[in-house]
Amino acid sequence: MCIVPSALLVVDVQKDFCPGGALAVPDGDRVVPALNRYIADAVASGWAVYASRDWHPPVTGHFQAYGGQWPVHCVQGSDGARFHPDLQLPLAAIVISKGQAPDRPGYSALEGVTPDGRLLLDDLRDRGIDHLYIGGLATDYCVRASVVDARRAGLHVTVLGDAIAGVEVNPGDSARALQEMAEAGARLLTGPVRPSPESAAARRAPAD
Ligand SMILES: [Zn+2]
Repeated sequence: MCIVPSALLVVDVQKDFCPGGALAVPDGDRVVPALNRYIADAVASGWAVYASRDWHPPVTGHFQAYGGQWPVHCVQGSDGARFHPDLQLPLAAIVISKGQAPDRPGYSALEGVTPDGRLLLDDLRDRGIDHLYIGGLATDYCVRASVVDARRAGLHVTVLGDAIAGVEVNPGDSARALQEMAEAGARLLTGPVRPSPESAAARRAPAD
């Protein structure tokens, strides 16, 4: 059996974070086609694919009604908490649920747990994965927090620059988040570069 040193982490591509959702990232769904290509490449390369999701209890200090910053979103079991319907996750994708504690926002996927309740980092270590390719929503919150935490945990991290989108509560938040991720030691891929050798054949023309 071959060693699988890398994995793809798709952060929070949920209906509530896409246009029409309760906490929509502007044009958030534009990351979906790019992520689908990364997912296909990851599967072809035999990588693990993780998909994190905000998975909040109905009452949490994360929501405005209880003193937090955000409108109600991604409540456990709600329609808005579902992954975007066009996101092509493989059956073997490992869902990472986060934000379940009522006293923590749970921005970072590294705070999240697998379906059997193990921390993402423990699952990565058990599989010998030391490099995460990360895309999804939102650049300035959950992507940023996940990237910085993964770097703190000693993982190599590549941010998929064409597969992220930010909330931009304040203009420039996404750019600042990218700066912070770079300072934490993450590498930023810009443009349609793929994480696997198979990608070269599938690469699209830059003008599309
Ligand atoms: Zn949340």
